[in-house]
Amino acid sequence: MAQEYDLVILGGGTGGYVAAIRASKLGLKTAIVEKRELGGTCLHRGCIPSKALLRSAEVFKQTKEADRYGISTENPTLNFTKVQERKQSIVDTLHKGVQGLMKKGKIDVFEGFGRILGPSIFSPTAGTISVEMNNGEENEMLIPKNVLVATGSRPKSLPGLEIDGEVVMSSDEALHMEELPESIIIVGGGVIGIEWASMLADFGVKVTVLEYLPHILPTEDEDISREMLKQMKKKGVDIVTSAKVLPDTIEKDNGVKVDAEVDGETVTYEAERMLVSVGRSANVDNIGLENTDIQVENGIIQTNDVYQTKESHIYAIGDVIGGMQLAHVASHEGMIAVEHMADQNPHPMNQDQVPSCIYSNPEVSSVGLTEKAAKEKGFDVKVGKFPFQAIGKALVHGETDGFVKIVADKESDDLLGVHMIGPHVTDMISEAALAQVLDATPWEIAETIHPHPTLSEAIGEAAMAVDGNQIHG
Ligand SMILES: Cc1cc2nc3c(=O)[nH]c(=O)nc-3n(C[C@H](O)[C@H](O)[C@H](O)COP(=O)(O)OP(=O)(O)OC[C@H]3O[C@@H](n4cnc5c(N)ncnc54)[C@H](O)[C@@H]3O)c2cc1C
Repeated sequence: MAQEYDLVILGGGTGGYVAAIRASKLGLKTAIVEKRELGGTCLHRGCIPSKALLRSAEVFKQTKEADRYGISTENPTLNFTKVQERKQSIVDTLHKGVQGLMKKGKIDVFEGFGRILGPSIFSPTAGTISVEMNNGEENEMLIPKNVLVATGSRPKSLPGLEIDGEVVMSSDEALHMEELPESIIIVGGGVIGIEWASMLADFGVKVTVLEYLPHILPTEDEDISREMLKQMKKKGVDIVTSAKVLPDTIEKDNGVKVDAEVDGETVTYEAERMLVSVGRSANVDNIGLENTDIQVENGIIQTNDVYQTKESHIYAIGDVIGGMQLAHVASHEGMIAVEHMADQNPHPMNQDQVPSCIYSNPEVSSVGLTEKAAKEKGFDVKVGKFPFQAIGKALVHGETDGFVKIVADKESDDLLGVHMIGPHVTDMISEAALAQVLDATPWEIAETIHPHPTLSEAIGEAAMAVDGNQIHG
């Protein structure tokens, strides 16, 4: 028999499960339909497992360099099986945690593939949801007042460069490698490509990155992108920009070979494996959108600023609506959507207040406009930059590469953007995000007393440097 709900969520990733908890706290009778595992990409194939591997790579690198800190270690070796086991146990622990949260919130979880059927007499607003159950039992029918589509995304490839999961991998397969290759070609120098390049180089793999655009990390501030290029080269990563990979030339025989057009010449690249990280496609297929008036443009679901689709009782959030494809964005959008369903009048999200992070070594974090974007928007900008080299705690840590850069409006003194590269900057960006939310000026950031010695002093100094008032530089 069909079951009735206030809300049925398609997809139990970071967007879907957080929305479910918020809905349950707001008193909505809620169900989640999940075809794989609760936690989605972020927990099982994204943020968490990749950061667990990055941490092992960092420890390995630091151990090899321990002599710098006065500690002798005899020839440290890597046990990659243990690295993978550690990663998996972190994922499993968090997975259990999410399952527990669903029980605590009295959220019903249906394990299967969900589809929206058209509106019916039972569900004239949001349409019935049919769930093809993973256990082979008869389809469940769910009758919701509202639906939230949170079906996420999957890795994309280039035509002709098909993922075979062995030699040519996406990040999904790379996370499960049993052994490290001696060498790898990474196609795509965006966030995922650079995190993998950093990690694999720190593990001792010979890495070549082929990036189509003239810069790696093309969405970051150009100073950050340039510094990352320098740091990756220092690690021994071979980065080739403006490189057009020619998929038809791929040969897989005892490894992989592919040609790329670089500066008008054709160059052949060769490695044991290849990782393709050229973006992600939204999961919009086969979920019944054709039974609705929901609009899909360029492969992503279109919504308004509280995440309603053209069908006002069907909302969509997270990677499936494109934009900043980040876990914290998906969950924040989920909370806004649910609050709107519950008549809570939520604030729409302001993209300029959303921090984004890259967990390579060195790390990168940013919030707001890059210098270039600010200029393109017509701002007359002033910039403050402060290097970690002049920060005592960075010397103590033994990690002095990188800087904090603050972009502000000359006329109003408004903060426009904060960009950092260096040690632990992903843990430091929340101060800048709060400053953006509170509309703080660089002067107010500088007036905030930063404890000594901390890496956060670089933010205070960069804020002072906006008007040339930095102390230690
Ligand atoms: C390698 C990698 C590293 C990343 N690192 C970070 C990071 O450090 N920080 C960060 O913020 N973001 C990171 N991301 C991005 C982040 O993982 C995504 O932005 C986030 O997972 C999006 O959440 P979501 O809920 O929209 O979708 P997903 O997490 O993809 O969840 C969607 C869920 O829906 C399920 N589903 C799909 N269709 C159906 C259906 N019809 N019926 C039932 N279930 C369905 C899927 O099985 C999946 O579990 C990373 C991504 C990758 C690939």
